[in-house]
Amino acid sequence: MRLLFVLAVVLGVLTTPASMSGGAMAQGYRPKGPPPGFKGKGVRPASPGAKRPQSTGGPATAPRFAVKDRGPLRSGGLRWIDMHMHLVPARGSFSGAVIEALKLMDRAGIATAVVMPTPQSSSAYTERQYTSLLKRHRSRFRWFGGGGDLNGIVHRTDPEKVTEAVRRDFVKRANAILDAGARGFGEMAVLHISFMSGHPFEETQADHPLFLALSDVAAARNVIISMHIDLVPKDGPTPAKVVAMGNPRRLRGNVEGFERLLAHNRGARIVLEHVGADPVGYATRDLLQRLVEAHPNLYLAIRAAPGTSTEMSNLIVDTKGVLPAWLEFFERYPGRFLFGTDTFAAASGAGAGAGTSFAARNVNKLILHNRILGSLPKHIARQIGVDNPRELLGLN
Ligand SMILES: [Zn+2]
Repeated sequence: MRLLFVLAVVLGVLTTPASMSGGAMAQGYRPKGPPPGFKGKGVRPASPGAKRPQSTGGPATAPRFAVKDRGPLRSGGLRWIDMHMHLVPARGSFSGAVIEALKLMDRAGIATAVVMPTPQSSSAYTERQYTSLLKRHRSRFRWFGGGGDLNGIVHRTDPEKVTEAVRRDFVKRANAILDAGARGFGEMAVLHISFMSGHPFEETQADHPLFLALSDVAAARNVIISMHIDLVPKDGPTPAKVVAMGNPRRLRGNVEGFERLLAHNRGARIVLEHVGADPVGYATRDLLQRLVEAHPNLYLAIRAAPGTSTEMSNLIVDTKGVLPAWLEFFERYPGRFLFGTDTFAAASGAGAGAGTSFAARNVNKLILHNRILGSLPKHIARQIGVDNPRELLGLN
């Protein structure tokens, strides 16, 4: 099996330059309707008086250290799996974004990436708009679905008013996503902090009956759920810097609800995204370790932020490398970690917006993730970068 995988990877590498020449991919695919984007009806307005950073890629969102335009972004020879990537279309087409994703993956040593829609509160786009493009690069991509539609349904549905008919319809949609080839559900959100205008604030309960139903589908079909939860232990005031980004002044506690979701069906494997890039400040190594110890079906996706980040807390790397407390955590539970870079592969010509702003950080992010890989003992780097994701995606 391993030999097959190596062959598949090699074939992927060999076929990439041809497909990146453009012609074949640029033709044939034209999604209907207006260009999808991040803006949607479900986006909550900014808190009164809060000044929101703009999403035009100006100084507030510019990378904080020099960006290399080309060349390798990797330190070692390991070809790894990235469990968290998004595509940003241009004029409604995702083909340029797929080309950009392949370029970034080749530079960063990423053999295979899991692509999924961002957790949208309204259905701006779904994975169905680009899966035919991903299928042309079978060794390079897997995808998750539901971030573009199921997530919005959860957020628009009052947890107290989930009737049997609502639940049945949701389960039917979830199964249809898997029938269409998705290897999991994502990106789903419980609490999603907004960073700029056009980037949604979303908040619901982690043990929403529809999330419980989703976990039953995930367990029955042996797929995983990718969850964006900015962890908050208890109801309380929002930290000032988070209010300043345009979020509500109070946040609901979500850790207990998340633990109920994890306990609801132990057969459902749930990946907590954005570990190491925590905008609120409560997702400490100690809290995460307690959760990992209590919940055998919980996995943590490492998403590095620069050591100079002022937006994020609980960082994993600084200028010297991986912080010792995190290194110890990885070495103690190597079977429970993955890499989820949250790279935004943007098509050239993609308009201004949150996705394009985030795309400006791709190169730095990928350098950092490779730095973490390079800091780990070889067998642990291989487990987190290759073996765990292959197991979770059913690639073995
Ligand atoms: Zn994401």
